[in-house]
Amino acid sequence: MVNQESQFATAQGSVAFLLVYTKYFGIMIKPFKKPIFVTRPFLPPIEEFSAGLQEIWDNQWLTNEGPVLQRFSRQLSQQCDTDNVCLFTNGTLALQIGLQGLGITGEVITTPFTFVATTHALYWNKIRPVFVDIEPDYYTLDPDKVEAAITPWTTAILAVHVFGYPCKLDELADIARRHNLKLIYDAAHAFGVTVDGKQISHFGDMSMFSFHATKLYHSLEGGMLIFQDDGLKSTFDYLKNFGFKNEVEVVMPGTNAKMNEMQALMGILVLKHLDDLIEKGRVIEAMYRERLAEVPGIHFPPELTANIRYNYAYMPIEVNEKEFGMSRDMLYEKLREYNVFARKYFYPLVTDFACYKNVQTRDSLTVANGVADRILCLPTYYDLAIDSIERICEIIIKSSSGI
Ligand SMILES: *Cc1c(COP(=O)(O)O)cnc(C)c1O
Repeated sequence: MVNQESQFATAQGSVAFLLVYTKYFGIMIKPFKKPIFVTRPFLPPIEEFSAGLQEIWDNQWLTNEGPVLQRFSRQLSQQCDTDNVCLFTNGTLALQIGLQGLGITGEVITTPFTFVATTHALYWNKIRPVFVDIEPDYYTLDPDKVEAAITPWTTAILAVHVFGYPCKLDELADIARRHNLKLIYDAAHAFGVTVDGKQISHFGDMSMFSFHATKLYHSLEGGMLIFQDDGLKSTFDYLKNFGFKNEVEVVMPGTNAKMNEMQALMGILVLKHLDDLIEKGRVIEAMYRERLAEVPGIHFPPELTANIRYNYAYMPIEVNEKEFGMSRDMLYEKLREYNVFARKYFYPLVTDFACYKNVQTRDSLTVANGVADRILCLPTYYDLAIDSIERICEIIIKSSSGI
């Protein structure tokens, strides 16, 4: 870390020079030998995982609220400062069950700028998604548009902390309270984010977290619900285990969405490194921002306010074709030529997928459509080397025409 920081500091002064030099004198940029993906899962030392496996072998208990899962659950309770924690085999099932357990029906106001599972979870509950636009800074649901979309059938707002950026929490809470709607957050990207010193899970009636391998924090696969109403705990426990209350009583038509012991073990081992992963992401983001600050047509989200502790899970930029001289799609292809696999999150919008194309949408989704055409997530993960970031930035600079 110290090493990375100092390299970063000494390089700061030469940014402008590098821009001009790279552009006009065309330093030969070599493609990466191995592909650089948008993310890479952190893996704990394999000896630690083996030791944990030995414990599971000794227990001969592989799933169904085993001892490792119980330990994991207690750690997450502590981390999120609540007893209302329920673990699932993945985030999608967590959200599906969450919506069902809360009794959400009718219409739910949600965003088209998300991973498609947000909408699928509504669909599986036979809930009609009502898509409204996002705000342009952090791509989260625009509270100003939410109110206009409320109908007598609206029962909830399902907002997404896109890329880990907190939604407009106060505004959404105010609308939900005034209209007696449940406020649910898809916090799949937001594990570890705090606002005013409180975990992001503190806000709204319920938050879903995904611990999928591609997320900043993972448990191989996994999902978690954090919720305010103590009474929901047993409902979620029943729903994820076929509705079993005990050996002979089934109290509701549940499904199977339990987290197993191997997942919980991975979750425990990665949790120890969460702060370090966040810190590495912080350094990487600072470097991208510094290196690309002067490049016309490359725009970053505004710096977050000091009350937010961000998790640096993603590194989104927007490419303005006119200013940059190349479209987002062309830059994406250009990066691929160098073996860099940036991702167009979230393009296409959910509303453009075949299965949701026919959902009637009154909002014109102007901001979301624009962002979907300009957005590109650059690689960021704990061991992305400083000189790899340099090289990715050089490719971007070389691709620009405005300097
Ligand atoms: C990853 C993700 C999900 C789904 O989580 P899984 O654990 O993969 O099922 C839902 N919503 C968003 C925004 C996601 O990024």
